[in-house]
Amino acid sequence: MITRREAALRLDVTLEMARRHGLPSRMSESEFAELDQNPPVWLAQSRANRTGKRPVWVHLQCVICGFSEDARPKKWWPEFTYLSCSHHPADELPAASRGLARSEVDGIGSRFVGIVDLPPAVTPAPSPPE
Ligand SMILES: [Zn+2]
Repeated sequence: MITRREAALRLDVTLEMARRHGLPSRMSESEFAELDQNPPVWLAQSRANRTGKRPVWVHLQCVICGFSEDARPKKWWPEFTYLSCSHHPADELPAASRGLARSEVDGIGSRFVGIVDLPPAVTPAPSPPE
């Protein structure tokens, strides 16, 4: 059985949408396969509208311990070089490549810090909104 959240992740739709269109809280793999292969109108439309857009979900994984979660990306997230749980000391992270300046972005997902290594000339990653 897969949960509605899992189904939403795999279909790349929001949980709200899954709920609004009556996805059950649990479904079997075969029910899911049926939905995926013969999408109802709302799902087909959602897919057609989404071409080339930012994904609904991103997979976040800690480079140090491997903890991972799927989260809804925020518009202000830059491209991360690494992600780590916020409790790891910074010196456990792989070192930045030579000549790259490292910046950290707090508050990614439920527990991540985003690491962005960029050449110093490039504008640093934006800060999260207050
Ligand atoms: Zn970790």
